[in-house]
Amino acid sequence: MNSLVFKISSAFSLMILLIFSALGLFSNYFIESQFRQYAFERTATDSAAIAEQLASGYAHSGDGWESGTLEGIGVAAMERGLLIRVIDESGAVLWDARRHNEGFCSDMLMQMEMNMLSHNADFDGGYEEKEYPIAVSDQPVGSVVIGYYGPYFYSSDDVKYIDALQRLLFYGGLISLFFSVLLGVFVARRIARPITRVIDSASRIALGRYATPVQTTSRTREIVDLTKTINHLGETLAEQETLRKRLSSDVAHELRTPVTVLQSHLELMIEGVWQPEPDRLKKLYEETQRLSRLITDLSKIQALEDENLNLHLEETDVDQLFGELHKMMLGEFTKHNIDFEYHSVPVTARVDGDKLKQIGVNLLTNALRYTPEFGQVILHLDLSKCTRVPSFRLTVEDTGIGIPEKDLPHIFERFYRVDPSRSKASGGLGIGLAITKALVDAHHGTIRVESRPGSGSRFICEIPLG
Ligand code: ADP
Repeated sequence: MNSLVFKISSAFSLMILLIFSALGLFSNYFIESQFRQYAFERTATDSAAIAEQLASGYAHSGDGWESGTLEGIGVAAMERGLLIRVIDESGAVLWDARRHNEGFCSDMLMQMEMNMLSHNADFDGGYEEKEYPIAVSDQPVGSVVIGYYGPYFYSSDDVKYIDALQRLLFYGGLISLFFSVLLGVFVARRIARPITRVIDSASRIALGRYATPVQTTSRTREIVDLTKTINHLGETLAEQETLRKRLSSDVAHELRTPVTVLQSHLELMIEGVWQPEPDRLKKLYEETQRLSRLITDLSKIQALEDENLNLHLEETDVDQLFGELHKMMLGEFTKHNIDFEYHSVPVTARVDGDKLKQIGVNLLTNALRYTPEFGQVILHLDLSKCTRVPSFRLTVEDTGIGIPEKDLPHIFERFYRVDPSRSKASGGLGIGLAITKALVDAHHGTIRVESRPGSGSRFICEIPLG
């Protein structure tokens, strides 16, 4: 397994290497072909110029060439790598570079061969000649045979120039490679550092230390997202841990009170100190009811853990369903002197009737629990106007104690209770709303709450018609 730093820096270097190799090959090819072209053209123009000079030399002297002119043109041509032989009309050789200086000529050809081979070991060249006719006023006066190292040749300066260009490319490539490795390591470190921090944080979370969030100064979106996700994970786990701890202490407390009452009262009755009078038995019965409610709540947690809530979807008269629920619960509300109203429009939807009723029961039980005497609770059913898919809306509105703003984002979490003080006998274990949300989610619906402490709460569920 390789580190991120190694991977990124080697990818960088490889990329630069590839770019420079491609660039090197391409520019080599380009330089070479340009030079070849130049060499060809140079020989051709030089040869044409020599023929021209010879013609004007001939014309200048009137009839034939002066030997000084021939030598001047011939030596100048030799300096440009061309060996000339001037022949007159009768075929007599008037001036020959080889005859003039054989040693210089062969040295020059050898030097050219060396130049070409040093540049390209496979270069297949050799001495070549080309004859150019010389004419004065359209009258042929002879010809010049121009010999050179062919098919084309580079002078020593040309070779030096090409070599310098190639060296420049090579060292440029090397230096860029060096810097690209440095840059790669630098960039990779910058990327790897925050990731390492996130890894450390994830390991701390794995050990149960959720509290220290990862700080990042990175401006890379994925890293910022990763850091946020890990921090969120830590926070969620920390919250879950707190809720779990709270649950066990709540359960212990809730169990202890009824069990203690039952034990002490029963003891007194067994010892004959107390008579089992109806009032006392009623008190004991209430305690068993408390225990039973606790057990129901605990079994609901189990249901919530079971992620696959199996729905039995059926065309349901939702209006009628909540109408029956209203009737069923009206007595409870009346007992607590709370006005309980139901407003509805006809709604038919493909839902699980039992689960839908459960949603209503949970929300209404809470409304009943948290609304003081002479308050009002309204159950409202209508069609939703703002949802993407056609949905119905169920609203449970109360004039109860309300929920503080800081608790609003959490009340649908399991075991979350606004007031965890155990003295509040009214409270459950903080799972009613978590169950409600799970049921709404199973119907692909949404649930939200609007509430203000002291004025009441409004729970709004929107569920697709199916
Ligand atoms: P519980 O079973 O303890 O009532 P829930 O999940 O049903 O738990 O509710 C979570 C918390 O939300 C409760 O502790 C309660 O404080 C608050 N709550 C729920 N419904 C209402 C309401 N209608 N008015 C005021 N507070 C509410």
